[in-house]
Amino acid sequence: MERSPLSDAARRRVLAATHQAMRRAERHWRLRLPEVAVHFDLSGGRAGTYQVRTGVRLLRFNPWLFSRHLERCLAEVVPHEVAHLVVDCRWGRGVRPHGPEWQAVMASLGAPARTTHDLPLEGVPVRRERRVPYRCACRIHQLSARRHHWAQRRGARYRCRECGALLEWLR
Ligand SMILES: [Zn+2]
Ligand SMILES: [Zn+2]
Repeated sequence: MERSPLSDAARRRVLAATHQAMRRAERHWRLRLPEVAVHFDLSGGRAGTYQVRTGVRLLRFNPWLFSRHLERCLAEVVPHEVAHLVVDCRWGRGVRPHGPEWQAVMASLGAPARTTHDLPLEGVPVRRERRVPYRCACRIHQLSARRHHWAQRRGARYRCRECGALLEWLR
C-alpha cells in the first residue's frame, strides 16, 4: 500500500471540519446525526463520496486532492458529502441525490451547491479508462467501457440518478 499523501495534521483538520458541519446541520435541521466513519481511500478524479456499507455510514475522501487543495476541499467537498449524509438521515433514499433537499442543506452549511468539482488533477494519479458518452434527459454521462459493453451486448439498462431517464448511447 502506497503511503498516503495526506499529513496527520491535514487529516485532523478534515475530521474537525466534518464534525463542525455535522453539528451545524444538526442545529439547523433539528436532528441527531449518527456517527460516521471517515476514510481517506478514494482515488481517481473523485474528491469525495458518501456511502452506506452494511449499515455503516461512511464518508470517503481523496487524499491526493485533499493534500493539494486542502482549503477548497474543506470549504466545498466536506460540506458536499456531509449534506448527502444529512439528506439520507432526514429524507431517506427517495429523493434525488442533488435535488432541492440537498441544495437546501448546502445553503444551511453556507456552501456552494455545486455537483461537480473543478479541482486541478495535476499530480493526482488518475486511471485512464475509455469512456463512452450517453445521454439522459438532463445531461451527458460518461460510461465506462465495461458498462457500455453490458448495455450494448447484454441488455443492461442504466438510469440517471438525477432525472430517472434511461441512458441512451450518443453515437
Ligand atoms: Zn454529490
Ligand atoms: Zn438525467
